[in-house]
Amino acid sequence: MKPVCPFVKASRPEDAPSRKHQKEPGADPAGVSPKCPFGYDAPADSGAISPKCPLGYDSQTFKLGPLSCMLCQALLFDCAKCVPCSHVFCKACIWRFKDCPLCGADIESTEADPNLQSTVDRFIEGHGRIKRSHVENVDKEEVSAKETVIYEDVSLERGAFLVQQAMRAFRAQNVESAKSRLTLCAEDIRDQIVRTGSTSELCSQLGAVLGMLGDCCRAIGDAPSAVTYFEESVEFLQKLPADDMEITHTLSVSLNKIGDLKYYDGDLQAARSYYDRSLNVRRDAAKQSPDVPSQILDVAVSLAKVADVDRSLGNENIAIQGFQEGIKLLESLTLKSEDIGLEQRRQSVLEFLKNQLAEKEAK
Ligand SMILES: [Zn+2]
Ligand SMILES: [Zn+2]
Repeated sequence: MKPVCPFVKASRPEDAPSRKHQKEPGADPAGVSPKCPFGYDAPADSGAISPKCPLGYDSQTFKLGPLSCMLCQALLFDCAKCVPCSHVFCKACIWRFKDCPLCGADIESTEADPNLQSTVDRFIEGHGRIKRSHVENVDKEEVSAKETVIYEDVSLERGAFLVQQAMRAFRAQNVESAKSRLTLCAEDIRDQIVRTGSTSELCSQLGAVLGMLGDCCRAIGDAPSAVTYFEESVEFLQKLPADDMEITHTLSVSLNKIGDLKYYDGDLQAARSYYDRSLNVRRDAAKQSPDVPSQILDVAVSLAKVADVDRSLGNENIAIQGFQEGIKLLESLTLKSEDIGLEQRRQSVLEFLKNQLAEKEAK
């Protein structure tokens, strides 16, 4: 399966509804795309917005840093030194090159550089993660509210840094690197939840990071682990108040992703149940904010997914009702003329639904 960036909204091809014969029913032409849980916005592919490093590096100096890989532009992971030129990249990034991308020299072989890698790992431990020792040394009674805030604040920045590194690695298809950074990040947030209790902020961050881990596992074809991560993501996101559009969207997408994985696995009943849960989350969200067109679109997409499985399960009448409800929703949805992207999605979902309906009538 082609890895799809979980962090950049624009690229969600697996959610495209217009695909011809959808193994994957329906789509997620998401109006709201997932955002970095730390408020650190994913750099667009266009590079229009340059990412800011929470540690104060700007993207340029960071890219050129001796601890990072020129190919994925993230901190080195499982690094490999080219022989003979000695330039260093992540192993997963350099393996497909015959010539060094930096100097053009032939790569005769690559060798591990454990010293450099351990420097990178120490850098992450020291700068990218929460300083546990500091907190552990503080007498419990002395941890005042103020200190906790500072501590949380630091952890937020550090968490954002790890997510940034993961995003870059994932986009460069260095999924193991992304997984490793996200795993540390999830571990740190869990740690914090144990210390400070589960605030909704921490739950939403953890839910999002676990969802990204699910995406990593899915990208490397590890469906069982992906399901586990998505389920855990759902577990945390469900605890949160349902009035946050970003959170309900992430929740419904995670449910759909589990549904997709069950669908591919041939477990249609399970797929239907996850799609249906996603549909309910979206219906509730649309009720809460009936003026947000993307929410209505999301509901229509979910209807399509559920109906598609219903058809596969032989429940043709229920399927038809679902397709019809989706069509009705979309036909009564009026968009502002400036919502060109939304209108395109509306059209393509509508076309999909109408084709589904026609397919039956043709039979
Ligand atoms: Zn790399
Ligand atoms: Zn070189």
